[in-house]
Amino acid sequence: MQSWSSGIKRSGKRIGFVPTMGYLHRGHLSLVERSKNDNDYTVASIYVNPAQFGANEDFGKYPRDLGRDKELLIAAGCDVLFTPEDRSIYPSGYQTYVNAEQITKTLEGEFRPGHFRGVTTIVNILFNLVQPDSAYFGQKDAQQCAVIKAMADDLKIPVRIIVMPIVREEDGLAMSSRNKYLGASERSDALVLFRSLALAETLIKQGERDAKLLEEVIMSQLKKVKTASPDYVRIVNSRTFEEAEILKWGSEYFILIACRIGATRLIDNLLIRV
Ligand code: AMP
Repeated sequence: MQSWSSGIKRSGKRIGFVPTMGYLHRGHLSLVERSKNDNDYTVASIYVNPAQFGANEDFGKYPRDLGRDKELLIAAGCDVLFTPEDRSIYPSGYQTYVNAEQITKTLEGEFRPGHFRGVTTIVNILFNLVQPDSAYFGQKDAQQCAVIKAMADDLKIPVRIIVMPIVREEDGLAMSSRNKYLGASERSDALVLFRSLALAETLIKQGERDAKLLEEVIMSQLKKVKTASPDYVRIVNSRTFEEAEILKWGSEYFILIACRIGATRLIDNLLIRV
């Protein structure tokens, strides 16, 4: 991977990179499409990174279908698919981890200890192998995007981080490889995430500015659904991820939800400009 990329860079061509864990959907493909638009070559990676899963999480059963993923990437016009193996990423004796200290303390970082340390470590390794000019991430994982931007800034990594909007199913459910886990009735219960975000957006448009009240409204919507057990509902400054109290005119916020539907943990968010 590294020698291919070095050759491309020497010829002065631009490389765009889309890191994924596979089981691809239109959200992933929107990143490939944007990368193709911006660059001479697009590299996608598929690697289910053990370092970002907690001991009780779904690493072992994370959905995998490399054959289908390859077809989707070929159809999307992706140039290179990189599928490294655990033993080359984390050979025995591996000991170096990258961690963004502040922004990882709350939200996903709080409910999934060690998760972001695994993410920043693998993204750093993949950046060193692929040597992209630009890398493409989805706003679906809004805090992850902020963590990666912080890492790239702090470590002076010469990669432009591009964040693309959330791609949703027709009824509003944010596309996710984990949606595969949902049974039929859970699939309709899962709509409560998007619907409660949409309700909060309506209330904000009508003039509501109390972030804590809006969080409570969303929480009470989630709690109406029997299979739903929310981890958090939080409105934060879109750049710093600091908790909001009163929404200020001219500022931008994320409304973030993490909620289990049955055994499946889902996240969703909405970017709000007040
Ligand atoms: P994953 O395979 O879940 O690690 O995701 C790989 C990349 O695709 C990450 O940057 C995600 O944020 C992005 N992504 C996942 N779901 C969506 C979606 N529904 N819309 C846009 N991007 C997404």
